[in-house]
Amino acid sequence: MALKLRFDNRVAIVTGAGGGLGRAYALELAKRGAKVVVNDLGVSRTGEGASSKAADLLVEEIKSNGGVAIPNYDSVEQGHKIIEAAIKAFGRIDIIINNAGILRDVSVQKMTEKDWDMVIAVHLKGAFILVKAAWKYMREQKYGRIINTSSSSGLYGNFGQANYSTAKLGLHGLTQTLAKEGDKYNIKCNTIAPSAASRMTQDIFTPDLHELLVPEKVVPLVTYLAHENCNENGGLYEVAGGYIGKLRWQRSQGVFYPGTFTAEDVKAKWNEAGNFDGNNDYPSALTDTLQKVMKFIEISKPKL
Ligand code: NAD
Repeated sequence: MALKLRFDNRVAIVTGAGGGLGRAYALELAKRGAKVVVNDLGVSRTGEGASSKAADLLVEEIKSNGGVAIPNYDSVEQGHKIIEAAIKAFGRIDIIINNAGILRDVSVQKMTEKDWDMVIAVHLKGAFILVKAAWKYMREQKYGRIINTSSSSGLYGNFGQANYSTAKLGLHGLTQTLAKEGDKYNIKCNTIAPSAASRMTQDIFTPDLHELLVPEKVVPLVTYLAHENCNENGGLYEVAGGYIGKLRWQRSQGVFYPGTFTAEDVKAKWNEAGNFDGNNDYPSALTDTLQKVMKFIEISKPKL
């Protein structure tokens, strides 16, 4: 079957593409005609060392399949250098997949500032630096597709991952703002929260889960989100093993206290405030909060 969603003349950067999920994305985009910047610093799972081997091997593989790719070994913390490499080699930048990542898992009591800083620097600040450097090119060409990689650890929290979960939820914060700032320039940004077998999950998943949750089962969603036909913007998707689901905020009907009120009043209506069985809504913008408040204020105004 011919692959209809092509990426001819598109330039994609995949960070952390030397292994795991990034490798699978880069292979697929190249197969569909994209010119790919295969970025990987070649570090250990905890962010130590550096090697050009993983990026080089993948570029060789892409080329031997007839694709176009260059390796890049800069850290995403130096994201502007990755953008410079893309512009120098291919003259434009259309797609960024912020995928590079490390883990420094330890309970908050034992977490050092170094554990915190390293994880935030790679996942969160790295994504920002890369996007910031690409932004002017994407704005000028009125086109861009950005995919940020979150995690269920970020969405729900996870023991031993205060640094990682903060970075990962922060990435969706970045997505939501980029979606709003980029929309009029046809720059769309979305978040995925994947689960897939990789060295990151080698001691978490059982062997049968490793077989079921292959990175290739995440690839189709990322490929579609990266394509010009996809106009989704600001979305958040869980994706694993063939499953794709969208997440959104849900707000309870809530309670309103006209005039002064006390902590005792809050206690008295605590269950009502958090009751999701009633008239819920699904806010997606800053203005939705004030609109809700103003509605309550209007309703509670004495009728003349
Ligand atoms: P992986 O360890 O196989 O790949 C991460 C890659 O990032 C490595 O090749 C590493 O060398 C590279 N890297 C690390 N720091 C870098 C830096 N500063 N600059 C450039 N490259 C760097 O892991 P993976 O499982 O493929 O994870 C990919 C992404 O998906 C990560 O952001 C991870 O947090 C996220 N994620 C993965 C899962 C999962 O189940 N595998 C779950 C949730 C989120």
